[in-house]
Amino acid sequence: MIQVSFLGLGAIGAPMAAHLAKRESLTVWNRTGERATEFAARPGARAVSTPREAAAGAQVVITCLPTSREVEALLGGPDGLERGLESGALVIDCTSGDPATSRRIAARLAPLGVAFADAPVSGGVSGAEAGTLTVMVGADSETFSRARPILAAFGKRIEHMGPVGAGHAMKAVNNALLAVNLIAVGEGLAALVKAGVSARTAVEVLNTSSGRSFVSEALVPERVMTGRWPRTFRLALLDKDVGIARAFLQESGVSGPLLDLAGRLLAEARAELGEAADHAEVIRLIEQRAGVEIRG
Ligand code: NDP
Repeated sequence: MIQVSFLGLGAIGAPMAAHLAKRESLTVWNRTGERATEFAARPGARAVSTPREAAAGAQVVITCLPTSREVEALLGGPDGLERGLESGALVIDCTSGDPATSRRIAARLAPLGVAFADAPVSGGVSGAEAGTLTVMVGADSETFSRARPILAAFGKRIEHMGPVGAGHAMKAVNNALLAVNLIAVGEGLAALVKAGVSARTAVEVLNTSSGRSFVSEALVPERVMTGRWPRTFRLALLDKDVGIARAFLQESGVSGPLLDLAGRLLAEARAELGEAADHAEVIRLIEQRAGVEIRG
């Protein structure tokens, strides 16, 4: 058993940490302390009240926060991670963050003898609960080898994408594709239903044809057709991911008009639906604007 600390028990962090608690000696910290205390009621876990305490004695520290900005902010100050981290420790950031901030964090930790990997995940809350997430790792080879067995607690496919930042770049591109698809599937289905096509038939035909996708195969049947709209992955977070992808394309010298447009539409939807809305609710907004419901 190794000493692992997990910071950020949000929608996806909590089920990831729950797997770790079954395998390792786990310390948890969360900004809203009650969440950590509640989590630590399970065997194998204990809660602490500062990031510094979480870092003390930990061989591995895992963060899973909304953006890299919050992760970087946890480092400094009297209660910050830097004060607690010991030489030889490994910090793994599972946030869907941005490459530039991660490179800065890695450079800041290196003089302390602390290794860093960015390791964002995909597969949603259900994938986290099942322990079948895809993990995209940015790190040097030695750090990747150290991180891999820890990540296996909640990851099924654990891929080394390249140096620090490469995991975040991969994740941002993936989520940008999700965003573009979400909007396009919503618009297409709204038009079909408005024209008199049965929503169920349209989705079934799409899913045996070349336009099918994760959105049409999973999100639309489970959330849109049922009208349930469960809140598992916030629209605000998807908006943030598209912003990271747009910056990444720009840095890479690739023009991205489609992503620019998706970014504008998502920002509009975020302003209208609010910070708590789920990403699939973009389709609810498309429905409202079109005056139609995609149900069946
Ligand atoms: P949530 O919004 O559910 O949770 C966010 C977590 O970060 C909470 O623990 C929250 O604490 C904490 N937090 C927020 N702001 C701060 C802050 N300023 N300082 C310290 N802690 C803070 O997010 P998710 O768990 O859904 O997402 C976490 C990351 O994982 C994001 O980068 C997201 O893009 C990514 N992700 C999410 C997926 C999903 O399906 N939900 C899927 C794949 C990736 P508090 O309890 O106090 O609010």
